[in-house]
Amino acid sequence: MALKYCQGPKCHTYDTKDRKRGPKENKRNETRRRSSFYYLDGNACSMICERDWFNVYGSRALDHFGRVTEPRVLTKDNAWSTRRDWSREGNDTFYVYNYLTQERHSITEQQYDDETSITHDGRLNI
Ligand SMILES: [Zn+2]
Repeated sequence: MALKYCQGPKCHTYDTKDRKRGPKENKRNETRRRSSFYYLDGNACSMICERDWFNVYGSRALDHFGRVTEPRVLTKDNAWSTRRDWSREGNDTFYVYNYLTQERHSITEQQYDDETSITHDGRLNI
């Protein structure tokens, strides 16, 4: 798997053994490099580096992708989610659930697995 660098802008400034590189006379600390990371959607090595990234780039990212300028609204039309009731016997039941009206309708396992059954903004698409 390809290695990638932590995107935390101050990663190299945290003094840990695994960041140390170079010979005695030319010691330096480098940005962490790994095949995968847990933070910042797989792009930062730690919560600290994730926070550092946001402190430097967060506002610019919001400006770039568009800020919320009016309230988003949850109504019965976009309050749907897929649910699964686990069963010890292996016959799980699947349904869509409206968390404003508590309405529920049975669906198939295929519909449950289908990410388009509920739109990304919570609307029923079955
Ligand atoms: Zn880092």
